[in-house]
Amino acid sequence: MTDKAMKPETIAAQSLGWIDEITRAVSPPIHLSSTFIRDPDNQFRSGREYARSDNPTYDQPEAVLAALENGKDAMLLASGMAAATACFLALKPGDHVVIPKVMYWGLRLWLFDFARSWGLDVEDIEMSDLAAVKAAMRPGKTKLVWIESPGNPMWNITDIAAVAEIAKKAGARAVADSTVSTPVLTHPLDLGCDVVMHSATKYLNGHSDIVMGALVTKAEDDYWERISGVRSRIGGIPGSFGAWLLLRGMRTLFPRVKLACANAQKLAEHFAKHPRIEAVLYPGLKDHPGHAIAARQMSGGFGGMLSIRVKGGEGAAIATAARVKLWKRATSLGGTESLIEHRGSTEGPGAPCPMDLLRLSAGIEDAGDLIADLEQALDGNS
Ligand SMILES: *Cc1c(COP(=O)(O)O)cnc(C)c1O
Repeated sequence: MTDKAMKPETIAAQSLGWIDEITRAVSPPIHLSSTFIRDPDNQFRSGREYARSDNPTYDQPEAVLAALENGKDAMLLASGMAAATACFLALKPGDHVVIPKVMYWGLRLWLFDFARSWGLDVEDIEMSDLAAVKAAMRPGKTKLVWIESPGNPMWNITDIAAVAEIAKKAGARAVADSTVSTPVLTHPLDLGCDVVMHSATKYLNGHSDIVMGALVTKAEDDYWERISGVRSRIGGIPGSFGAWLLLRGMRTLFPRVKLACANAQKLAEHFAKHPRIEAVLYPGLKDHPGHAIAARQMSGGFGGMLSIRVKGGEGAAIATAARVKLWKRATSLGGTESLIEHRGSTEGPGAPCPMDLLRLSAGIEDAGDLIADLEQALDGNS
């Protein structure tokens, strides 16, 4: 069966069905060698020279990711941040980039701090407002439009196809951080993006036991070449064992993400009208401002991430998180275990995140257990 004929669930479950040619192993070996033999005639016929640029343990997870995202090629990097920053470092000082106001906080900080001082002209806008996206384009100057949908931690929805189209018309590339949407729910390359980025630390691996990043490209063009150069020259590469764990984690990507989506939807619906909650932010709720667009560009669910705004402000939110027993009070997302985080404490002053907000990463536990634990935690807010 060719790769094209396989459904994505099958590709993920069997890691493309590859069998190790030498040992006939179903689960692949881990290659640890840092260097590779040069042929007597001075060539590298194996195609590999040194493991900062060529690691055979990356081949299968990268092939799986390229297949799941309908891309031409994929690249593993040391972290989601290494993947995201490589997309900006592949540009040139003086280039103009447009980013959303609501996005992963760590990357936003890096862009305003490091990237600006390095010479990128960084502009943040409300990416769900297409008129604002159009107005921000400076043809010839704008080189990259960064999309994150749903956007951390308010879960704003961006119309990916519309933004990618506006970027293209202005001669800019569109890159999507699809960490929260996962290849199970959304295909940014099919919607017109040039590159898709993942913090593989999250759903792709899914077990809260590695930090890793990934990029997938629609075309093997100059931009991809430059990104590849950033990875191999700066050396932001993952270790072989981590790459193997990612491959193992992705085998269960589909059932994990589907369960997390179902749990998030149940949590959102249960707490939507709760007397101790001001608002539930989740694109799967019909009254979410991005619901219709999300329904169009996400299939099979609205993601495992939601936030609640707790009545009583910052103190009540932190106290609620302090009382959970089953939920784990920790940053990150996309693991099998449900996580709760007072996001304002993590992002610090200056962040657009409201201080009464708790960010919830729904895991794959029993939904009733998760609801009951959050109910008892909220009950203490009298
Ligand atoms: C975690 C995360 C990142 C950063 O990834 P790391 O693997 O922690 O470096 C970027 N974007 C989103 C949406 C994330 O959740």
